[in-house]
Amino acid sequence: MFTSPYAPVEIPDVSIFDYLFENLSEAELDRTAVIDGVSGAELSYRALVDQITRVAGALAADGVGPGTVVGLLCPNTPQFTAVFHGILRAGATVTTINSLYTPDDIHRQLHDSVATWLITVSPLLPGAKAAAHASGIPDERIVVIDGEAGHRSLSDLLAADAPAPAVTIDPATHVAVLPYSSGTTAAPKGVMLSHRNLIANVQQARDLIGVVPEDKVLALLPFYHIYGMTVLLNLAFKQRASLVTMAKFDFVEFLRMIQDHRCSYIFIAPPIAVAVAKHPLVEKYDLSSVHTILSGAAPLDGALAAAVAARLDCRILQGYGMTEVSPVSHLIPIDAPHLSRASVGVTVPNMDCKLVSTETGDEIEAPSSGVSERGELLVRGPNVMLGYLNNEKATRETIDADGFLHTGDIATVNALGEVTIVDRSKELIKYKGYQIAPAELEALLLTHPQIADAAVIGAADADGQEIPKAFVVTVAESAVTAEEVIAFVSERVAPHKKVRAVEFIEVIPKSASGKILRKDLRARERAATVER
Ligand code: AMP
Repeated sequence: MFTSPYAPVEIPDVSIFDYLFENLSEAELDRTAVIDGVSGAELSYRALVDQITRVAGALAADGVGPGTVVGLLCPNTPQFTAVFHGILRAGATVTTINSLYTPDDIHRQLHDSVATWLITVSPLLPGAKAAAHASGIPDERIVVIDGEAGHRSLSDLLAADAPAPAVTIDPATHVAVLPYSSGTTAAPKGVMLSHRNLIANVQQARDLIGVVPEDKVLALLPFYHIYGMTVLLNLAFKQRASLVTMAKFDFVEFLRMIQDHRCSYIFIAPPIAVAVAKHPLVEKYDLSSVHTILSGAAPLDGALAAAVAARLDCRILQGYGMTEVSPVSHLIPIDAPHLSRASVGVTVPNMDCKLVSTETGDEIEAPSSGVSERGELLVRGPNVMLGYLNNEKATRETIDADGFLHTGDIATVNALGEVTIVDRSKELIKYKGYQIAPAELEALLLTHPQIADAAVIGAADADGQEIPKAFVVTVAESAVTAEEVIAFVSERVAPHKKVRAVEFIEVIPKSASGKILRKDLRARERAATVER
């Protein structure tokens, strides 16, 4: 076993609202909490807390409270921040939904999470409404933030002027948020994170990440995903920094917002690092305000990290984690320039880790010098989820009797406690940091009349970034082309789930029990990449 090199941190036994927003000083209340990156409109901490309290009051007056699950389907806007924390302040549970989702995806999440309310925005309303109705949510319980006839708007909630409810919850067991993740098994599942889980991860990471009140933090990572939720909606607010919201990612807008708002701290996923390192437009903007970039959600290549740091003359850090860990378990901290940029850094405080052999299940000793053998990374700590919603089997398969969560990632550790992620044993594919469950794409491919069998794995594009690739076996005498297969999938899934490469093969390698041998396909892909 190995642990954090840092002393344990205290985890206050309060709700996330009290942790973030109780007892702000007058000076803190006057600070800017959120800036709309497009319009430039600003919201102070005073206004934000007032809006959160009003949203909580209006929802509570309608019976929303402990036990209610509210779906939140909204891009990154200042309004998202008030609504998200308003739902939590009311004592209810938020299930955050990817705004790129198809109506079917939305329905699945609303239905599985037993959400009885949905809060969304007018451009997403048609799909959202169909999904809500199919899940038994009537129009009266669909709030449209920016207003739509027949629905309450955020302005209506704010104007209701209902008192904020007195809510008693147990921070350690009350489910605050329910983001969805495939984890180490196939289908997306509701990840139950308590108030304590969320607070723990801010406490564990805040000193190591080093956001300060003077920082303007560009909020481009989607708030619905645990990475954006924790570092932007929780940690940046705890540090009294200012968020600059970006509702839709566009590289030119990204550069413009950094320049115009003088953003100083930016959380990204690796594909953005590729663009920052290579794109010619970077020279045309004044990005001198940026002092730190932290990359997470997928592997960041060491040479790429160095290229970004050199081009912007800033620090580049890396974090590793997963939804089930709220999410951060490993970080290259702000004050550790000696740590290798190819690693994901050291374990955050209050966590224990183990590496176990994927063949024997035996523990691999942490070395006293050099680097360990590779093994599956197991983590334990106060930020590990309560479990998967209504899925004890998946919970038991993921968290063992000693409280260790099996990440499905293969890692090594060196004598300094630096962890390097070297592979993934679980099926999950990550495209631009977004999760894709291969089984979902495989099931869809099999509905194509000319496809007899299919398997999907993560492959690398020309920049080394992960993309979903389908191996396809066609029916006899089929003339279906790769382009047709790609188009077939794109018409039916959210944009991030598109298949981006297709290879036709004779037979999908399978075990005696019929399981797809993904590791054989991955090895085949690696060999082909080396040849190319
Ligand atoms: P998610 O639950 O969507 O955050 O996905 C978690 C998974 O993303 C992890 O189990 C890893 O496979 C991958 N991941 C996240 N951060 C990193 C990183 N810094 N390096 C390598 N893989 C990562």
